[in-house]
Amino acid sequence: MSMHKIIELMQPFWGDRQVIASYVGGEFIAGHGTPIEVRNAHDDSLMLSYPDADQSLVEVASKAAGTAQQQWWAMTAQARGRAMYQVGAQIRQHSEALAQIESLSSNKPIRDAQVEVAKVAEMFEYYAGWADKLHGEVIPVPTSHLNYVTYEPLGTVLQITPWNAPVFTCGWQVAPAIAAGNAVILKPSELTVLSSLVIGVLVERAGVPKGLVNVVAGFGHSIGQQLIAGADIRKVVFVGSPATGRHIASAAAQRCIPAVLELGGKSANIVFADADLDVALRGAQAAIFSGAGQSCVSGSRLLVQASIFDKFTQALASAAQQFVVGDPSDPQTQIGPINNPKQYSHVKTMVERALQDGAQLVGEGAEPVPAKAGYYINPTVLAGHNALHCAQEEIFGPVVVAIPFEDEAEAIRIANDSRFGLAGAVWTRDVGRAHRVAKQVRAGTFWVNGYKTIHVSSPFGGYGESGYGRSSGLDALREYSEVKSVWVETAAIPAASFGYGASLE
Ligand code: NAD
Repeated sequence: MSMHKIIELMQPFWGDRQVIASYVGGEFIAGHGTPIEVRNAHDDSLMLSYPDADQSLVEVASKAAGTAQQQWWAMTAQARGRAMYQVGAQIRQHSEALAQIESLSSNKPIRDAQVEVAKVAEMFEYYAGWADKLHGEVIPVPTSHLNYVTYEPLGTVLQITPWNAPVFTCGWQVAPAIAAGNAVILKPSELTVLSSLVIGVLVERAGVPKGLVNVVAGFGHSIGQQLIAGADIRKVVFVGSPATGRHIASAAAQRCIPAVLELGGKSANIVFADADLDVALRGAQAAIFSGAGQSCVSGSRLLVQASIFDKFTQALASAAQQFVVGDPSDPQTQIGPINNPKQYSHVKTMVERALQDGAQLVGEGAEPVPAKAGYYINPTVLAGHNALHCAQEEIFGPVVVAIPFEDEAEAIRIANDSRFGLAGAVWTRDVGRAHRVAKQVRAGTFWVNGYKTIHVSSPFGGYGESGYGRSSGLDALREYSEVKSVWVETAAIPAASFGYGASLE
């Protein structure tokens, strides 16, 4: 049923194809490798199966990307911007189909998929505007030279993305990369390739050269690794788990290729007693339960001031039981299943271990694992302390660990007692405290009286084991550029220099 539906939804983008294939150089190229099986998280049935990409694709993708990048960079910056704007228009035109494809293939509630697709259109539009504004600078050097700095494309970049927000991460990385003049080889998670394939097709329909955005459908440990080792690439941008990130950065380092790592988090959402507690309660729910907690920035550690701890966590647990958990295709569904069996088993094991370690399940009648088919986990509140395994490791499910604190100093200490540093938030009516906490918590993104607002115009990335490098905003364009400093002698009679400005005389 699902496979039939997928083929029907993909028809406007890949015609009469029946099997998932990579989209490289403007062609669909089917692999012949080990079958990749993807299960439907709603009922555990087999959703689709397709062969892993062949190693020969490394060379094919490198050549296609190299040729397209030269064509793209030869266009005027204005023409590149116009084409990128058209990508946004194409995505808007096909937004409902794309949202359905995303929802089906990533098991994301349809309402979330619709929002994310609209954001992807916005990403291409935002970076369309940058295409002719990424200009250089003139530096006032203390010599007789004109010194100017230009930003050049790197060439081809490899992007490897995860299953939790496939279309979102695709736009988040592809848009700045091509705005800066690069070509892309994108390897999305083998579990969720469809929306990236559609974006690859739409990019080309918008007037971008064939092969500028190539989407490879295959496993990470096979074709992913082969691309890092052998493709003609100048940078690897990885979004995914810390364990894989380490492996990828080290493989890239063997070739002296730089990497950007966007990894996991264990973000602290800090609620002070002086906050507007109704608003903070809604914020705490959104922070961890939206997307079934499968979000890198989830507020997975909830730090609550001791004087309101019991009341606040009980209220959160009661609210958690009101959510509509179920079939992602139902427009009423607020929380869908966990994406895949491996992750489902991880979340269940983490909850079991947390309870064995002494964490308390909050809420009368709370049941983390519902008795129904599919990979469902109910929104769950655990009470514990920061040294627990469940407070230090990413669960990546709708499970929050609530931790009491006495005062501001203790809240900051606990927030920073983590090897991650992706995001965080504070809820308080005290403006001075809000800024003090924002300044002292080590995290790449921080919210005051809010949670999970991110936008393509603002930089995003992690501290510590949440990774390095920045996505989105102007910072992403810098990540996707080489910087060149050019020195032009302007003196009528130049000094005879010898070395770094020393005189020959
Ligand atoms: P993962 O690390 O298992 O896989 C991510 C990607 O890496 C997939 O495309 C996979 O095929 C590929 N891969 C796996 N092994 C590889 C190898 N040896 N060589 C090359 N590629 C390989 O991550 P996941 O389970 O798909 O995603 C969940 C993780 O992603 C969580 O930790 C989450 O926090 C993180 N994440 C981070 C951000 C961010 O921006 N910081 C955003 C979304 C998700």
